[in-house]
Amino acid sequence: MPMFVDTSPPGQCIFCKIVAGDIPAAKVYEDALTVAFMDIGQVNPGHVLVASKRHAVTVLDLTPEEAAAVMQTAQRVAAAAEAAFAPDGITLFQANGAAGGQTVFHFHLHVLPRHAGDGVALAWPRK
Ligand code: IMP
Repeated sequence: MPMFVDTSPPGQCIFCKIVAGDIPAAKVYEDALTVAFMDIGQVNPGHVLVASKRHAVTVLDLTPEEAAAVMQTAQRVAAAAEAAFAPDGITLFQANGAAGGQTVFHFHLHVLPRHAGDGVALAWPRK
């Protein structure tokens, strides 16, 4: 089955709609530059996406301030995941461009709690 791909322009993509509150999302954190919400297709419990509020497409489109804010939010989310899920590890991953495995073309970083033997095999592009 083909994977859902969202190449919508700024303001119309699914993550812009989440930022605007036009579609529901389980938001776990937000500040002036970033928003964090549960991944709808979670690979493991506690799988969160940290997105820029502004419609940047890839890491190359972020301002330095946005890039710093994304990592600060990711660290907060990772700390919350550590407390909530007691994972054995946490994987951060981030895809840029179709060939890089990106399917929603609005910048986001995955925060994925991991457990020994969870069998998660991360591959880019994901099948
Ligand atoms: P990418 O493949 O790195 O671009 O990741 C896109 C992620 O967005 C996938 O893990 C999807 O499960 C997730 N996703 C797609 N639509 C939604 C949504 O409406 N809410 C939350 N997560 C979504």
